[in-house]
Amino acid sequence: MRLLLLAPPGAGKGTQGSRLAAWSGVQHIAAGDLLRAAAQAGSGLGAEIADYQARGDLVPDQIVLDLLSPVVTAAAARGGFILDGFPRTLAQATAAAELAARLGVTLHAVLYLHAPEAVLTQRLLGRASEGGRGDDRAEVIEHRLQVFAETTGALVPYYSERGILVTVDADQPPDSVTADIQDRLSSIS
Ligand code: ADP
Repeated sequence: MRLLLLAPPGAGKGTQGSRLAAWSGVQHIAAGDLLRAAAQAGSGLGAEIADYQARGDLVPDQIVLDLLSPVVTAAAARGGFILDGFPRTLAQATAAAELAARLGVTLHAVLYLHAPEAVLTQRLLGRASEGGRGDDRAEVIEHRLQVFAETTGALVPYYSERGILVTVDADQPPDSVTADIQDRLSSIS
């Protein structure tokens, strides 16, 4: 199973990603988690990554690719991956396609978790009030949603044109989203 999870902040890609990985038996790779771990490494590069994440800006493509390519390559060799939060730009999508071609693999599907922006904002503000992450602050949340709309959203038509986009309604309780995803994936694999 080789799957991408494409979703705006707050749509539940972390939750669904780990459930899907457990269900399918492949590795869950969360780009944001890997970048947060690298940010804590205490190096100059780590500090740079932390700054981008704190602002809700995308980390530059080359940094993301250098970090993720070896992890994805290793997972592909072990049977697949649920890749959440990567790619997030068209340049990353092109690089991902080149990597897949080099590895001689293709993607089975790109899952797009969709929910109205007002729902996403409310969920993220809810998470913020419970402690949340450093980037769960009202202004940063708004900016992360804007970055998705302006940049990452372009990947929806990109993968749709390639015939592998599967859109799921994420404005439902988590268990219903999981059930919908499993239903949709069972019919394509
Ligand atoms: P969310 O989607 O809820 O904002 P993530 O953990 O997926 O949470 O991402 C958090 C942050 O990590 C992003 O705002 C961005 O700074 C960085 N990030 C994650 N994935 C990527 C990526 N593929 N390219 C660039 N930056 C990324």
